[in-house]
Formats: sequence, structure tokens, C-alpha cells
Amino acid sequence: MDIPPKLSFFNPATGDTFGEIAMTPLDQVPKVMCDMRQAATVWANKPIQERIRILRQLQHLLIESQDEITALINQDCGKSRQDALIELLVTVDILNEYCRRAPQWLRRERVSSGLYFSKSCYVEHRPHGVVLVLSPWNYPLALSLPQVLAAVLAGNTVILKPSEVTAATGVLIETLLQRVPELAPYIRVVHGDGRVGAALIAACPDYIHLTGSTATGRKVMQAAAEHLIPVACELGGKDAMLVLDDADVDAAARWGVWGAYFNAGQTCMSVERVYVAESLYDEFVRLASHYTEQFKMGYTTDLNSPFSVGPVTDPRQVKIIERHLADALAKGARIVTGGQQDGMFFSPTVLVDVDHSMLIMQDETFGPLMPIMKVKDEAEAIRMANDNSFGLAGSIWSRDVKRAERVAKQIQASSFIINDTIAQFGIPMLPFGGVKDSGAGRTHGKEGIMQFTRPYSYALGTPPLKWDIATVARKPGHYALVGAILGVAFGVTLHQRWKTIEKFTQKN
Ligand code: NAD
Repeated sequence: MDIPPKLSFFNPATGDTFGEIAMTPLDQVPKVMCDMRQAATVWANKPIQERIRILRQLQHLLIESQDEITALINQDCGKSRQDALIELLVTVDILNEYCRRAPQWLRRERVSSGLYFSKSCYVEHRPHGVVLVLSPWNYPLALSLPQVLAAVLAGNTVILKPSEVTAATGVLIETLLQRVPELAPYIRVVHGDGRVGAALIAACPDYIHLTGSTATGRKVMQAAAEHLIPVACELGGKDAMLVLDDADVDAAARWGVWGAYFNAGQTCMSVERVYVAESLYDEFVRLASHYTEQFKMGYTTDLNSPFSVGPVTDPRQVKIIERHLADALAKGARIVTGGQQDGMFFSPTVLVDVDHSMLIMQDETFGPLMPIMKVKDEAEAIRMANDNSFGLAGSIWSRDVKRAERVAKQIQASSFIINDTIAQFGIPMLPFGGVKDSGAGRTHGKEGIMQFTRPYSYALGTPPLKWDIATVARKPGHYALVGAILGVAFGVTLHQRWKTIEKFTQKN
């Protein structure tokens, strides 16, 4: 299939196009890989403090460029300047935390040599080589740069392929990187759609980090399997919010709708479905509708926006939201408030009378809709939350934090917040990722950087000594002696150890 030569920059709020970028031709992909492979040895040999010094220059530049960055993301995604600034805040926060902690995390570790007394053993965390980062459109900065910078800090060179939907932000990232000349040679931004992503995988990077949909995760893992390339996939979600019978119902409604509508619901860990204890249900629906009606929908390029919900960014997503809403309404769901659509804009919408036969309770909607379901008790809430193929994150509301924690542990997802929504993603030290169809990748936390390394191990020492286990176990005729060492070293009880010695002394 021919690759269209250009990706145009489309403002989803106004419908205007504001630029374009040539897609990277497929036949240039092997050359990019070759360049980054050559650069990888140079970069990996730089001491960690040197890499940090260079990355701090980027950190400085990112802070200086905040207005330029938010202006561009505002046009590219339709989100407010302040929401774009939150992307930058998350990015800089994680970079800062990683620069502080990486020297300790990445340093060579001494480990026990076990029975090999004469050896010293070490583990080194070395980079993979060339890392491919495939990123999505919903947070085109915060889901691209932290992954790229973690990989670079760990000593890899990186090829970033930003989403074709927000190609302008991809170009911005490229421009920013070029403004740090000491960093620019080690990161390459490649522009294009999934076909360019597939060509990059075929060119055999050493590690792949994808943030995207579950469907793409399957394709990427299959293609990577051909070359045995390790892959981390951070995929979609259908996160549940559970409001238990002792919750602060006002706070739950207020921050629940925020978690459902932030970024127009285009957040992998959005509140996508809500289960409320029957004793609080009516009050929760009333308050959620009240708070929903306070959300203003619209778009401005001003730094301070009166709007808290912008447009849907990807025209393809509009079709999905429309389909989920139509399916729910056809099966008996009722709109309490909202439900209007104006092109790419959907008004924040509260839906009730929903059930698990509906797409809106099963598949990722990625829009500003909040379907609410009444549940009998805690057990039913847990059962409903787990009746889903995704398992990314979730939120539990209860005045009893211990109870909420106990409930969270029974839900098949890997990141929870108690008495708030979605904010855990902004906490750099918490690893984030999923289970089930949400993939097994992680970002943030120590895991977010260590994934970009492989452990290399060393056992150092003199040639085996006479009483070294290495010498004893290799010499023929030592069956009883090795058996005695086994029992003495690892006997579970004193009696077992003593018996081993007795057996050995009787035989000799
Ligand atoms: P997508 O799967 O369409 O695309 C993601 C990236 O993969 C893009 O750069 C795309 O060009 C590339 N790609 C597509 N097909 C490819 C192929 N065959 N080979 C290689 N690369 C390919 O996802 P999207 O629509 O851009 O993003 C939205 C999705 O991302 C949602 O499902 C959302 O839940 C998910 N997401 C997950 C997280 C998380 O941390 N778990 C965070 C944000 C978004």
C-alpha cells in the first residue's frame, strides 16, 4: 500500500488545519535504526552523571518553553492550555525524579555468592540498545517524553514514533530535542502511522514500549515475536469507580465526574463506569448530575480557559462514542443530563439504567460519559468491577480507608486510588500499567526505568580453591560429601541437618 506523503495537523476544536509533516518513507527506516544502533554504544558509555547533566538541559528547556508547548498541544488536541500544562508538569516531575534516583537504581549491585565462597558476584543494569517508543494521541507529550527519557537515562538510544493523530506534537518534541545538541544525536523522531510503526518493528529494535489500544498491542506483540523482541504494552482500560455505602457521597460525585470528563474522557484510566451502593445511589446520581452541569464545554487558545471539557481529539473516536451511546439507549439506558453532540464536542453525560449487556459497560468509550449502576452491596460491586476484560486502574470511595483498601485488593486491576480519581498517574514513584487486556507494561516508578535495562551478571574470583564447592562438586566420587553439604547447608530443621552429618560420618 502507498504511504500518503504528508500528515496534516488538524485542530479538532475548530476543524482548521495548521500545518503538515512528511511521513518518514519506509525505505529510510533501516537507516534510522542503523544510525541509532551506532549512537547507542557512544551514549551507553557516557557515565550516568553525564547523561543526567545533559537531560537536565532538556528539563530547563521544557520549563522555559511552557507557553510554546501548551499553545501547540492546545491546537493539536483541542484541550485547554492548563490541561496541556498538566502534561508538561507530569513529564518534568518524572524526569526530575528519575534524574535524582537513577544513579542509585542503575548502579552495579553486589549479590551473595552463596556456596561459592571464593567468588564475588555482581549484577549490572545495562541498556537494551535501541528502544522503540510508540505513543498515542490522548496525552501526546506525557505519554511520549517520559518513556523516551527513562530509556535514554538508562543508557539506550531511542526512536520515538508519535501518534499520527497528533503529529504536530511529535514535531514539537523533535524540535525541542534538537535544541539540546548534546542529546539530539541519541533520539530520533520518526513520523507516520501504524505502517511506519510496523516497519520500525521489522527493523528489529532491541526493546519496544507501546502505549496504545489493545488491538494494536496484539499486533505489536505478534510482530515482535517474529524477532523475539521484548515488548511492554500499556493498553486500554475500562476503569471502575466503586462508591461503598459509607462513602462521602458529595466528594465521590464531585471528583468522580472530574475523573470521567477530564481530557474529555480520553484518558486510559478515566472513570468509565460507576457502581454505587443502593443506599447512596439516588443521592449520588443527583449530585453527579449537579456537578456535571457545571462543566462548560468549549475551546479557547487563551492561557486561562473558562472551559473544562474540550473536543474529542481523534475523529475515529467520535464514531466509537456515538456507537456506545446509541447501543446503551437502544438497550434501555436513560440520559439524566447531557447527551448533546456538536461535531467533535460531546457534552458531559450521566447515564443510568445501564447494565453489562451494553458496550458502554464493557468496551473502552474514551469520551465524557459517566454510566452509573446501582449495586446491592460491596460483594456485588466487586463482582461487577471484575466482569470486564480490561484491568488498568480504579477508584474506591469509603470513609473507612482500610475497608477501601481491602476492596481494592479484590479487583483485577493494578493501580488504585482511594477517595479520589485518576490522580495516581501524576505521582512519579507509583508504577502504572495494567493486567488482563490492559497489557503488562509499566511506566513511572522504579519499574518504569528498570524495564529499559537488562541484568548482566558477573562472578569474579581466583581459580577454584581446594575446598570450594566448585572443586568439591566437580570431583568424581564425592556423592556422599555433596549430599552432606546439601543437608547441612539447606536442611530445614536442626534434626535434618544432624541426620545428614550422621549419615555422612557412618559412610566414611
Ligand atoms: P493506537 O493503538 O491506535 O496507536 C498507538 C501507537 O501505535 C500510534 O503511534 C500508532 O501509530 C502505533 N501503531 C498502530 N498500529 C501499529 C502497528 N501495527 N505497528 C506498530 N505501531 C502501530 O492507540 P491510540 O488510539 O493512539 O491511543 C488510544 C489508546 O491508548 C486507548 O486505547 C487508550 O486506553 C490507550 N492508552 C493506554 C495508556 C496506558 O498507560 N495504559 C495510556 C494512554 C492511552
